[in-house]
Amino acid sequence: MSELPNREALGLSGVIHAYREGEGRLEILKGAELSIAAGEMVALVAPSGAGKSTLLHIAGLLERPEAGEVRVAGRHCGGLPDGERTRVRREAVGFVYQFHHLLPDFTALENVVLPQRLAGLERREAERRGRELLAYMRIDHRAAHVPGELSGGERQRVAIARAVANAPRLLLADEPTGNLDPKTAGQVFDALTALVRASGLATLIATHNLELAHRMDRRITLVDGRVAEL
Ligand code: ADP
Ligand code: MG
Repeated sequence: MSELPNREALGLSGVIHAYREGEGRLEILKGAELSIAAGEMVALVAPSGAGKSTLLHIAGLLERPEAGEVRVAGRHCGGLPDGERTRVRREAVGFVYQFHHLLPDFTALENVVLPQRLAGLERREAERRGRELLAYMRIDHRAAHVPGELSGGERQRVAIARAVANAPRLLLADEPTGNLDPKTAGQVFDALTALVRASGLATLIATHNLELAHRMDRRITLVDGRVAEL
């Protein structure tokens, strides 16, 4: 196996991806290149339809690119069978979406505990870590509440805590504050940043919020299917 760039959490090389469009094909990624190191926070800023979600899905091993290479947490994932890709995704990648996708019948704490239990952690240890993560996200005082009793910003705090529950190497977030008012978005982002800085996690965050983008380490965009630095 060839050697990976030092401390690389995510790498894309020559990624090409298209969707079917009637008889033809709509090429969205046309040779995307990207490398994100451990501890780095990168903003992905591009207009709607540019391919941000497509890029995040490919980076998170939810979708296979037509061509090109995807490296996650030191693994070349292109040639891996589906089962192995799923394992790498579960162990190494956390996702946050614009909508929280929390389980409605479970408390905030249980939503963070559950993925850890599925990964084999003992209840006490999972609860200890769950409380710690909720505290980082400044939502520990709502640990016993179900999502329906939480505000939009509070739900996203829980969703972020859940995404990092199993200590991934890479956090991918698709417009995580897109549904929040600017003040709440800023506060949720502050908590996310504290968590990321404490854990050395690499993050790639698609956002339309330029103010938040400027608080990250680096900004990239998509220009005609390729990644460009901003
Ligand atoms: P963004 O997240 O930047 O808004 P997307 O990655 O969601 O962009 O989509 C990029 C383009 O690909 C859009 O034109 C979209 O309509 C198209 N697209 C996305 N997903 C699919 C799909 N499953 N099938 C067909 N076209 C798709
Ligand atoms: Mg999108």
